[in-house]
Amino acid sequence: MSVHNPPTLQKLAIQILVKEEALGMSDLEEIAHGLFPALFKEAFDGRHIKLIKALVIAWPFRCLPVGALMKTPDLETLKAVLDGVDIHRTRGFHTRRKKLQFLDLRNVHHNFWDICTDSEDSDSATEILDEKQAVKVHPRYALSQHLKVTVDLCIRSCLDEAQAWFLKWAQERKGSLYFCCTKMKIWALPVKDLRQIFHVFDPEHIMELELNTEWTLLELGHFAPYLGQMRNLHKVFLAPLHKTTFPIINRTRAREAKCINKFISQFSKFNCLQHLFMFYIYFLREQMNQVLGCLMTPLKTLSITYSLISQRDLDSFPCCQSLFQLKHLELRGVALLDLDLKPLRGLLMKVAGTLQTLDFQGCRMKDSQLSVFLPAFKHFSQISNVNFYKNDFSMPILKDLLQHTANWRKINVEQYPAPLECYDELGHVSIERFAQLCQDLTDTLRIIRQTKNSTFATDICHTCGECCVFDQVSRLCSCWQ
Ligand SMILES: [Zn+2]
Repeated sequence: MSVHNPPTLQKLAIQILVKEEALGMSDLEEIAHGLFPALFKEAFDGRHIKLIKALVIAWPFRCLPVGALMKTPDLETLKAVLDGVDIHRTRGFHTRRKKLQFLDLRNVHHNFWDICTDSEDSDSATEILDEKQAVKVHPRYALSQHLKVTVDLCIRSCLDEAQAWFLKWAQERKGSLYFCCTKMKIWALPVKDLRQIFHVFDPEHIMELELNTEWTLLELGHFAPYLGQMRNLHKVFLAPLHKTTFPIINRTRAREAKCINKFISQFSKFNCLQHLFMFYIYFLREQMNQVLGCLMTPLKTLSITYSLISQRDLDSFPCCQSLFQLKHLELRGVALLDLDLKPLRGLLMKVAGTLQTLDFQGCRMKDSQLSVFLPAFKHFSQISNVNFYKNDFSMPILKDLLQHTANWRKINVEQYPAPLECYDELGHVSIERFAQLCQDLTDTLRIIRQTKNSTFATDICHTCGECCVFDQVSRLCSCWQ
């Protein structure tokens, strides 16, 4: 059978093969390699369990990126694939068949299946399958001939049926297969239940971690050693909405402090951390200098949102070498109104040549605080997105701010708060003044430089919960419509 058949003939052949689900192994051995991906996708989409299993057993490539086809978790198809893998590993094959070396259960490589199933030259597409597995093979794996199984895990309060079954399957094969989890999201799973997961998946391979838990500080302390083993983390998102314990007794307070220190000390073990996100974190207040000060690599992203930070935290920013190459700085929802922002200016001066995103939304800064930053803003050369919504700035300081942005040649999106002069003494928006003053600011900006996407917005309306936004024209909140 030629692999250069026109797609219509190929599709026809596949339909016939799928109909005859009871294809024997000897039949599959005769089928051209180029037809396998399209046949597999068809079998998968139609949930032809027996055929899926048979195709995995006879799979003629090194890589099987089946995760892209698993749109929703389905125990039956997962079982068929893994049963097929078991038999594939133990069967002897004709020498022309390559042995499966990489089973990718992550939801990636979508393009691959489209190319493979639409391409007239399915051979060239399937070459990708053999190349894929060559990427980033761990030395330990390269020495052994173990099949590598890669997954991304999103674990909620307990394992779902497919996850539980897979974990059991993996535990039984731990010695003979090589398991790897690159992205892990943990939502509210008790720490004790993580032990069996990390027994199969070495924390060392995790590159992205999202921690969104309801642990106590003591539980965070128990998790700390696992965090420390994740030396290859690139990106970490921490949102532990930890349960408030009641540290009435000094002994409890001391234990909690110990747990926080244990958690923080793990940050010095990351070899390649680039993006650090902290959302709604309260227990690290006064400790940011320790977290940021012990990082081994320069961060590209520092995002501290809806959290509390102290003057001591801010004071440490211009001294933390790990922040000197920042591309994205987000302090959204962090109250800065009572703080001295000169240290933050010191940091902004240092990153003026790299910073692309600056998000100060909802920091409730005043005029005097914004004026501290202006000398730094002047030097921004890469900035593309700024957000100053929900700060309390007057018309004169906003004009002054715009005057300092003449060099922002790469700016793409710029969001400013509507000036305080738009509000009456009760805090209500005067729509005439809103339109007039925002038009005035837009005209000022146009004289200074080109602008693509600049908007001015009021605070949230207490009645309807929306903002009035000026974007060349006024778009008013629902109360005015
Ligand atoms: Zn309203």
